[in-house]
Amino acid sequence: METRVHTAAVHAGRRDLRDLGVHAPPLDRSTTNPLTSLQVGTDSLDAMAAGGHPQGSSVYARLHNPTVARWEQAIARLESADEAVAYGSGMAAMTAVLLAAGAVGRHVVAVRPLYGCTDHLLQSGLLGCEVSWATPDGLAAAVRPDTALVVAETPANPTLRLLDLRAMVAAAGGVPVLVDNTFATPILQQPLQLGVTWSLHSATKALSGHGDVMAGVVATSVDRAAALRQVRILTGGLLDPQAAWLLHRSLPTLPLRVEAAQATAGVLAPRLADHPAVATVHYPGLPGADPLGLVGTQMAGPGGVLAFDLHGGYEAAAGVLKAVELLTPAVSLGSTDTLLQHPAGLTHRIVGDDARDAGGITPGMLRLSAGLEDVEDLWTDLAAALALVSDA
Ligand SMILES: *Cc1c(COP(=O)(O)O)cnc(C)c1O
Repeated sequence: METRVHTAAVHAGRRDLRDLGVHAPPLDRSTTNPLTSLQVGTDSLDAMAAGGHPQGSSVYARLHNPTVARWEQAIARLESADEAVAYGSGMAAMTAVLLAAGAVGRHVVAVRPLYGCTDHLLQSGLLGCEVSWATPDGLAAAVRPDTALVVAETPANPTLRLLDLRAMVAAAGGVPVLVDNTFATPILQQPLQLGVTWSLHSATKALSGHGDVMAGVVATSVDRAAALRQVRILTGGLLDPQAAWLLHRSLPTLPLRVEAAQATAGVLAPRLADHPAVATVHYPGLPGADPLGLVGTQMAGPGGVLAFDLHGGYEAAAGVLKAVELLTPAVSLGSTDTLLQHPAGLTHRIVGDDARDAGGITPGMLRLSAGLEDVEDLWTDLAAALALVSDA
């Protein structure tokens, strides 16, 4: 039956469990699979080499793993996608999309700011991409006949700037669009519904949710998923079954965790905006912060991540990071605990000054990913740390 998101998060990818007579998904760690006949092996190999699914046997774990496949089905359901393909990290997923899109040695259009390593992967020349960095308004003009794909992120990391995905897809004019959906999660945003070709997640973040799994996943169409699986068979970058099992275990609570983090961010954002040590707060839920009106339409809510600039610049940001006792001074996001990090010094250090400036990443900026603690405890901790740098 058609189910709503909370129900889907609990039940997705578990259809075969009743017939198996088990309640928790089996964790299959086999690297090879005994064949019932040679025919089963060759049929399955042919199907998987073409990017399809096994015909009776997984054959070898780089080709297919049932534990991983269950989680992929669940993510596809939550993204309203045909299929999803999982990887050992978000960056492995990003690399796989670039390879599958034929971006190696070709032209790519990218919109800043992007996650620091995505920016650096494109900029470094490692894959031989020729990159045009476009503003949202300049996108249509930047696209060429030889453009392999458009890469963008909304909400953007770390400035939380939102992009209108429908407008972006229109501006791309038929060139496929990759959107990093990590910050929104499929609970708040389903890019494929808006015409986007690939929706990518660092599942290391909210999808895992507990700070103990590295993973990546891409939701897309049947054809694009086949191309991704072909790349994955050839290059590896696999998601470990144990990690997939943990990800699937975390999925039923994803909507609850996203909603709780969002509620907390929604309380902290205006308090930070009123604080004398804070110059600016970047959070799409604040008045005036969503000029395109995308919260409530493209995105179901503003999410659980915010950033803020301190009047005291780099020194003040370093001081707050050092002073917090409850908040965890650490990169990453979407964990059970609230994480606070310094984009210019950490996640976006690698991209270089120009890209940081172009992306609006200032030396006094901190990024906060709300966890599941009591918001008043978080505010007590944050306010005490901010008071120290206000006096300085
Ligand atoms: C963390 C992150 C990535 C990279 O994912 P890994 O799992 O660390 O490889 C990509 N995009 C965004 C938005 C991220 O936050």
